[in-house]
Amino acid sequence: MQNPIMTGYDPQRLHEALLRVRRTISEACERAGRAPGEVRLVAVSKTHPVEAIAILYELGVRDFGESYVQELVDKVGRLPNDIRWHFIGGLQSNKARFLGNEISLLHSVDRTSLIEALQRRSEQPMDILLQVNVAAEATKGGTSPDQLVALYDCARSQSKLTVRGLMTMAPYCDDPESSRGHFRVLRALLDELRTHAGEGVASALSELSMGMSDDFAVAIEEGATLVRVGTALFGDRQSD
Ligand SMILES: *Cc1c(COP(=O)(O)O)cnc(C)c1O
Repeated sequence: MQNPIMTGYDPQRLHEALLRVRRTISEACERAGRAPGEVRLVAVSKTHPVEAIAILYELGVRDFGESYVQELVDKVGRLPNDIRWHFIGGLQSNKARFLGNEISLLHSVDRTSLIEALQRRSEQPMDILLQVNVAAEATKGGTSPDQLVALYDCARSQSKLTVRGLMTMAPYCDDPESSRGHFRVLRALLDELRTHAGEGVASALSELSMGMSDDFAVAIEEGATLVRVGTALFGDRQSD
């Protein structure tokens, strides 16, 4: 059994971190003239133990993000079943079938082969986001902006999948302002996709998953509906 204080998962510290993050969210909403209810906090719990997740759950957090299939599956069985799990990591097509029953939103769909695998292998209907590599970084997943419409059309034609919006990761940088342009591009891409999708379908395309610990306030100012925050809540990850 790990000592929660030794490992940094002191309930008091987590509570304070959550209050700080929530305050930053509401201040950013205020600056942007948005209602705080428009932004959902996804607590990114990858590499952190179920004990730490349980503390945030007790404090009212219901959305948690994970990046590794086996870790997700292990955690789901040990925590309350009203948690909404978000899968945010790169996904191999051969793992697709494990996710359908477990998760509420898959943020990282970035290629047609994965879409086809999800349609073929998942047992349940799934809500997905298309991940876009706005900055064209070689080390990151995501489709290029010019392939996005084709990827969307592929996903839309699958009976088990519903596209809810877009996700991106801005390049790592010390200055959160450097993310702003990338978030703006993602928002413009969502607007274009809604026009392409046409009336009736466009309203389902409402989510923008963007912003992490260092830049989620900027992301909210630029229209994020889901922010994925790990380090600012749980502290540093031991391994990744
Ligand atoms: C790990 C991860 C996060 C959380 O990053 P922090 O900087 O710890 O907030 C968010 N999004 C994705 C896709 C991640 O892999």
